[in-house]
Amino acid sequence: DHARHLPEHRVRYSPDFDAEYTRRISIITELKQALHRDSPELSLVYQPKLCLDSSSISHAEALMRWTSKTLGFVGPDEFISVAEQAGLIGAVTDWVIKRAINDTKTLVDNNVDVCVAINLSAKDILNKSLLPQIKSRIAEAGLSPTQLAFEITESDLVSDAQGVYSELGLYREAGFTLAIDDFGTGYSSLSYLKSLPVNELKIDKSFVLNLDKNQSDQQIVKTIIDLAHNFDLKVIAEGVETLPSLSLLNQWGCNYAQGYFISRPVPVEQFMQWYKDNKNTDWISQ
Ligand code: C2E
Ligand code: MG
Ligand code: MG
Ligand code: MG
Repeated sequence: DHARHLPEHRVRYSPDFDAEYTRRISIITELKQALHRDSPELSLVYQPKLCLDSSSISHAEALMRWTSKTLGFVGPDEFISVAEQAGLIGAVTDWVIKRAINDTKTLVDNNVDVCVAINLSAKDILNKSLLPQIKSRIAEAGLSPTQLAFEITESDLVSDAQGVYSELGLYREAGFTLAIDDFGTGYSSLSYLKSLPVNELKIDKSFVLNLDKNQSDQQIVKTIIDLAHNFDLKVIAEGVETLPSLSLLNQWGCNYAQGYFISRPVPVEQFMQWYKDNKNTDWISQ
């Protein structure tokens, strides 16, 4: 047929390739502008973490949202990976840190006593000027390092690329909590856990979403909880969507739970209201 006679390089110019390429370019251009203007297109939403040991809400995760005028809603899974590849992640993280510290100050001022977790990429950790920047920003805001935590995706941490472990050690020494995000999806060997200076494993939601129905997910989750505790780490499950799942996690000694069953991620004002409304909620035996 006709296609077989085309020179090989022509394959790259398929309509799909064009569409994908154009979208990536638009994301880069539009995101850069939005960050530069501190545009209302960008926001952070907060999702609580339920502490199962104390049955209280003591932590929340900041998640970025972007609804572009031209592109519509773009999910962070998409624009964060484009930003990482395009060398734009530093500007993204800078925006996130500023906003999250402002919001944390707002929370503290309103007697909402939670530690706020920010997602970082390994590229951020390798940027040696980030930690001093964070330190001076929290000092300026009158906050302590115990009020912030950082989550780094496991696949970024399986090898000690360019000394990321020793950089992470500096975050720990400064008093920040560190978690390995999406745990269970990124490793081929567990030996890296010995040398990682982290406090917490966060079980990937792919093992948790169907926990109440799926036997092999139950085995995996139980195993990760024991693994974490054997390494003296706290463990949190993300993607908890049902009460039966939450009950199982509680029964197995999981330290924290996060997911739509407890709350979806919401804007900071709504989070404060939710926190006040749910101070005395008994999540397990309802
Ligand atoms: P993540 O850090 O692992 O965040 C968990 C994701 O699961 C979030 O998706 C959250 O909204 C979603 N989720 C939470 N509970 C449930 C649940 O019960 N069911 C289901 N189906 N999903 C749930 P989101 O907000 O789309 O973020 C996706 C990823 O994008 C994040 O994964 C994180 O890796 C990245 N990301 C988000 N915000 C930032 C940011 O400010 N900086 C960086 N570097 N990455 C970010
Ligand atoms: Mg996270
Ligand atoms: Mg995750
Ligand atoms: Mg993730």
